[in-house]
Amino acid sequence: MKTAIYPGSFDPVTSGHLNIIRRAAHIFDKLIVCVMVNAGKQPMFSLDERVELIRRVTSDIPNVEVDGSSELLAEYAKRKGSCVIVKGLRAGSDFEKEFQMALINHNINPDLDTMFLTAEHQYMYLSSSTVKELGRYDVDLSQFLPQEIIPDFQERIKLISQGGK
Ligand code: ADP
Repeated sequence: MKTAIYPGSFDPVTSGHLNIIRRAAHIFDKLIVCVMVNAGKQPMFSLDERVELIRRVTSDIPNVEVDGSSELLAEYAKRKGSCVIVKGLRAGSDFEKEFQMALINHNINPDLDTMFLTAEHQYMYLSSSTVKELGRYDVDLSQFLPQEIIPDFQERIKLISQGGK
């Protein structure tokens, strides 16, 4: 059974992420979407909240499991018995960083390879940070975020703008 790991910050999960999740779940027997702790970023949603939001939008995909971890990705993959990391590649911006990460992960764990899925053209310029920026204005978010999480997102934006979090 081939298990792949799709790691990221997912703060919050976007339609671009969900597109990669669906396509990777179609390729592998099992896909573990893992919310990773990024010490350099102050997230909008806690790790547990991000896991819950991804669970909600992937509940119709039976071979997807959602998890959260503060472990080193190469170690996490080994513990889960996976030898493949899946990454989404957007126009230009992701290449250098992802190439470097793939080499480092392979170096730490030589059994581990990274496979890239190219972003769907309508999501090529979509990132969680762009959505957070747009969220501050009165913009229709339905092409950027899965419908089921838009109310949670808008509520959190409101709370933040009121200085509540
Ligand atoms: P973001 O840059 O949106 O904060 P993450 O750190 O959560 O994203 O990224 C997790 C993974 O998802 C990375 O491999 C990233 O390249 C990929 N990804 C992010 N947005 C998209 C998108 N719109 N289309 C395809 N892949 C994406």
